Amino acid sequence: MRFAEMTAVVTGGGSGIGKATALLLAKEGANVIISGRTKEKLEAAAEEINQVIGEERAAYFVADSTKEEEVQDLARFIDDYYMGLHIVINNAGGSLQSKILDTSVEEWDIVQEVNLKSVFVVSKVLGKMMTESQVIGGNRAIVNIASLSGHKAASHLPHYSSAKAAVINFTRALALELAPYGIRVNSVSPGFAETPLTEWSLTNEKFMQSIKRNTALGRVGTSEEIAKVIAFAASSDASYMTGSDLLVDGGWMIT
Ligand code: NAP
Repeated sequence: MRFAEMTAVVTGGGSGIGKATALLLAKEGANVIISGRTKEKLEAAAEEINQVIGEERAAYFVADSTKEEEVQDLARFIDDYYMGLHIVINNAGGSLQSKILDTSVEEWDIVQEVNLKSVFVVSKVLGKMMTESQVIGGNRAIVNIASLSGHKAASHLPHYSSAKAAVINFTRALALELAPYGIRVNSVSPGFAETPLTEWSLTNEKFMQSIKRNTALGRVGTSEEIAKVIAFAASSDASYMTGSDLLVDGGWMIT
């Protein structure tokens, strides 16, 4: 039980990679709070996690990760009901599809906010809480979910790939700032995994074939495969790792 007695927050934990990560952390002993903007989705996900593990270890809190006041409300909720905060998974994110020349300034801002500003706001508010908490020593970590798109040019995703590249460097800066407090900060960059975010492409045979062709392992990934790497980065198994990015892309980068 790598996360026994620990409290973890997973932003965007109501679906996809976030939900799979919350389930894995809860299975391994953590009390997990999943956050997001849609109450019904969060409620259903928390209920599902508790049913699977047979214990009430998952709770939810409605908070938009880009809004500082809402994240502060989340921090107060944790302060009121939990014994400290050990793990933060900055997973909330999303994208639009457009080429640079066709992207409006509003679309650019939306994608930057949900993928980059959200990581900054949650890291600032919950990171501060972690530095001020009475929990001394032990395992404390922040894991930011970036993307393979943050490492290379991605067609039709200029806003998203720019934001995710920034998340990777923000992770390094935060790792330096929080190291004196014993808090590790790393990012995980998934390649292509089947989730609600990528649902549109699953029925597009041509696109799926190109994904498989461009991936050394010849298939798309699952949320559970990404969650296992996120849990590793969050756990004491990664106790000497900070400021790193873990690419989990089935070998897309090497093709
Ligand atoms: P997903 O199922 O759509 O998950 C994204 C979650 O983020 C949703 O539950 C969404 O819920 C939440 N969210 C969006 N905006 C938010 C905000 N402002 N505040 C709080 N929550 C917010 O997609 P996913 O594929 O699992 O994505 C998870 C992360 O992995 C994202 O950061 C994504 O960029 C990254 N990623 C995914 C892939 C992939 O192939 N699937 C590849 C690389 C990176 P609400 O809309 O209800 O708030």
